[in-house]
Amino acid sequence: MNVTEIFETMEYGPAPESPTLVLDWLKERQPFGLFINGQWVKPASGKYLDTINPSTGKPLAQVAAANSKDVDAAVSAARAAAKTWSKTPGHIRARYLYAIARHIQKHSRVLAVLESMDNGKPIRETRDLDIPLVARHFYYHAGWAQLMASELPGYEPVGVVGQIIPWNFPLLMLAWKIAPALAMGNTVVLKPARYTPLTALKFAEIVQESGLPPGVVNILTGEASQVGDALVRHPGVNKIAFTGSTDVGRTLRRATAGSGKKLSLELGGKSPFIVFDDADLDSVVEGVVDAIWFNQGQVCCAGSRLLVQEDIADRLINKLRARMEKLRIGDPLDKAVDIGAIVSSAQLEEIQRLVDQGVEEGAVIWQPSWACPSEGYFFPPTLFTNVSPATTIAQVEIFGPVLVSMTFRTPAEAVALANNTRYGLAASVWSENINLALDVAPKLKAGTVWVNCTNLFDATSGFGGYRESGFGREGGKEGLYEYVRPAWETSSSSSKVLPIAAGSTYSSDGSEQAISTGEPGEDDEDHISIPESSTGYHLALPAIDRTPKMFINGKQVRPDSGYSRDVYDPRGRVIGQVGEGNRKDIRNAVEAAHAAGSWATSTTHNHAQILYYIAENLSVREEEFAHRIVQQTGGADADAATEVQVTISRLFSYAAWADKYEGVVHRPPLRGVVLAMKEPIGVIGMACPSEYPLLGFISLVAPAIAMGNTVIAIPSQQSPLSAIDCYQVLETSDLPAGVVNIVTGHRDTLSQVLADHDDVESMWYFGPAEGCKRVELASAGNMKRTWVSYGHPRDWLDPLQGEGEEFLRESTHVKNIWVPYGE
Ligand code: NDP
Repeated sequence: MNVTEIFETMEYGPAPESPTLVLDWLKERQPFGLFINGQWVKPASGKYLDTINPSTGKPLAQVAAANSKDVDAAVSAARAAAKTWSKTPGHIRARYLYAIARHIQKHSRVLAVLESMDNGKPIRETRDLDIPLVARHFYYHAGWAQLMASELPGYEPVGVVGQIIPWNFPLLMLAWKIAPALAMGNTVVLKPARYTPLTALKFAEIVQESGLPPGVVNILTGEASQVGDALVRHPGVNKIAFTGSTDVGRTLRRATAGSGKKLSLELGGKSPFIVFDDADLDSVVEGVVDAIWFNQGQVCCAGSRLLVQEDIADRLINKLRARMEKLRIGDPLDKAVDIGAIVSSAQLEEIQRLVDQGVEEGAVIWQPSWACPSEGYFFPPTLFTNVSPATTIAQVEIFGPVLVSMTFRTPAEAVALANNTRYGLAASVWSENINLALDVAPKLKAGTVWVNCTNLFDATSGFGGYRESGFGREGGKEGLYEYVRPAWETSSSSSKVLPIAAGSTYSSDGSEQAISTGEPGEDDEDHISIPESSTGYHLALPAIDRTPKMFINGKQVRPDSGYSRDVYDPRGRVIGQVGEGNRKDIRNAVEAAHAAGSWATSTTHNHAQILYYIAENLSVREEEFAHRIVQQTGGADADAATEVQVTISRLFSYAAWADKYEGVVHRPPLRGVVLAMKEPIGVIGMACPSEYPLLGFISLVAPAIAMGNTVIAIPSQQSPLSAIDCYQVLETSDLPAGVVNIVTGHRDTLSQVLADHDDVESMWYFGPAEGCKRVELASAGNMKRTWVSYGHPRDWLDPLQGEGEEFLRESTHVKNIWVPYGE
């Protein structure tokens, strides 16, 4: 027998991990109580739920079924604890987080075995990936607790955070949520998934062992309808952090709309795995195994769409089938097993349903010849070929060990196919040509791109999605901002209502009305007197009518409606008319903004130059712009002059930032680097504040375009003329057509259209609370990002509130591109 034959025929013996310690631990403690205020308490309902071992289908333990009374108790405990914890010095919080990390390492094997038994995933994964990463997250965030005061000056914790996590990485998702929350001085109430509560309960013991003050961490097991819903709606909760399905994410967006709760959503995906014809195919095959058969494919960023360059497709598929034939499925506690059990019978049925649908839709199915264990919930690795891009299995997240493959010819086709999804969580690119890979990576709509690797995670590098994969990041410095807010918000504005521009009031629908106080025609400054002319006429000529239009695609356009709306001064006199924009104008503006997408890739130097040029052109007309402000607001001349000067300074600020708000290079523990690139979000809709008609408009538009976005701005409804006057400045400043579009009209009507629009990627709204709620509700359609003021005013003149990093962060996504190196 030669060496090859030995390798071919060699069988693995079983290498089981003993469950004894874990079973003893379960026996001693169950039925488990709820962990509230540092104590184990009985659920108010008196009810308990079974948790099942998916590899046997048999009950493993009983956990408490919490209800809304328990949620009240846990939130009260967290609120009480927040008073001290939020003031606890960073160094002390760092010590606690460090202690938690150490305790996780001390209990690492128990945690790994418990996770495998509760979830069904192979022990090799829990032992080598889940649990080490859990510890790593607590160590990493101990560091941020230590550094918070110096690295995030001017920020404070949000308060009590409700955290809802899924069943696919139960303890890891807990760590991704709890570690940054505690590091930033928040307290938490966490709900584990119904299927996998056990490692969260073991974690509660670790919290006790680590001596964390009572109430800082509270853990409630139970059902979504009882616990999750109550937590999301609880008025004592300041933020919700969620990982799970896009459908539930959408429900949470709607449930929290207008409440002022911060929200971060990490949702589903249908991530592309792109293989170019020069890729190392043996590495690719191992990559595919990690991409789609890791955790039985129950991974939000699973590489579930294999996109292969046509000329190598057959070769790769053959290699893949040979490898699939050798995958080992079975007892998750067997260390030689590659694929464990599916989490539940319901999930197993759902996978089977989608696979059947794929067959019906005409795709060709391939599964290995061996059979799955008859006991428990197992599904074989499955490969579909002959898949058409529009079919269900090519579009829907299957969340199981099912790979669909398609082919492409050119890099451009690969990018188009990869981006042909409503999701945008992750992607992986395989090519030995690093130039090609790094050219393709930024073109992929995904929060994470892995080059010649897949499913790598580290606390240094933020993780999160675009589009319907959600918003917000977990990990990295960017992840911290999900758990803090600017300190000025609490000190200056919580009790104030939005100031109303002089001469206006809000009606019940949130729109502004002019208050008429003066006699029309009195002190009419639009009528100028001129001296006797050379022709001898002695006339008080009326000013030549100026018809401010809207600005779409670089052109001044009349409104589709054919209607205009009057603009009043504070005394109720008409000082001009602007177009009454409608749905069609917004649609045209969105189309123009999309067509101007190349702005995103023009150089940052170019962005800066154009912003300087806008400032320069504005400064030439300083007096005229100041006059316009006085005319609309009735404010003092000096205040208007200040507003124009601050506007010019603000343009300079973003010209300065344009080539300085850059990404970073992370060094996770691997041979390689992670390029954290700040990318524009795309098309941003923005409803500008009523106050400061010029400064409010530029304060929003300038950061957005500095970062490469294109915008549709709805200027101050009360005082739109300053923004409209800007188009002459924009036209003479070399700004490409479509980068800035201005649509005038009823702010809330137009905002609604923008917030509903599927091709708008983010919506900003600075206006009354009711309008903010409407925008947040509507945004759930395509899960666009939102940034709203909740009716709280800002002092736009103050650089702390009116400009800076917050604006830049809202104008960008962070994309992490993982690039391993070495032979
Ligand atoms: P869900 O999104 O339903 O569950 C995730 C978490 O949210 C669980 O803790 C769940 O509680 C809770 N939850 C569910 N409904 C609500 C609600 N209305 N209010 C508050 N909390 C709620 O995922 P499923 O477990 O049902 O899985 C369904 C599909 O979701 C999968 O097939 C997969 O496609 C996708 N998914 C995606 C994940 C990801 O990481 N992106 C993770 C998990 C699933 P409970 O467990 O008690 O129901």
